[in-house]
Amino acid sequence: MRAYERTGVLSPTDLVLPTKQQLEKGVAILECVQEIPCNPCVDACPVHAISMKDINAPPVNDYEKCTGCAKCVGVCPGLAIFVVKQQGTKALITLPYEFLPVPSPGDVVQALDRVGAARQQATVKKVVKRGKTMVITVEVDAAVAMDIRNIRV
Ligand code: SF4
Ligand code: SF4
Repeated sequence: MRAYERTGVLSPTDLVLPTKQQLEKGVAILECVQEIPCNPCVDACPVHAISMKDINAPPVNDYEKCTGCAKCVGVCPGLAIFVVKQQGTKALITLPYEFLPVPSPGDVVQALDRVGAARQQATVKKVVKRGKTMVITVEVDAAVAMDIRNIRV
């Protein structure tokens, strides 16, 4: 049994993780493991990196094709896509955000893990509006790049 089936919360061991080189390039991590009929991420990807065996299958990202453009992040109704880009001892996490207030570049926010626990402070680097979803990039320590998946403003 996979870890999330016991806890209800995904952990990095449930995911196919990118290599160090792929992380340094920046790639989208698809934290979508349920069998649900959904595929906007597939259509949003300009380089056709995301594929699914069928409409109910979990999506798979080809990390070699993925450019880390983050176009898939704001279209996912499950808020389940995160772009992670490692830069030395720091990492940029691009995540979907649907709360208010919306932060601005330069703001310092709380970086939260998958259970909503505050892990460290993060600096907002970029804010882009995609429909009702904001796509926000924050900088955190590289050591927590696979743990930070939300923010609190
Ligand atoms: S980050 Fe860009 S290239 Fe990578 S899967 Fe998402 S849309 Fe495709
Ligand atoms: S859009 Fe989001 S919820 Fe839908 S299949 Fe893609 S990753 Fe999963």
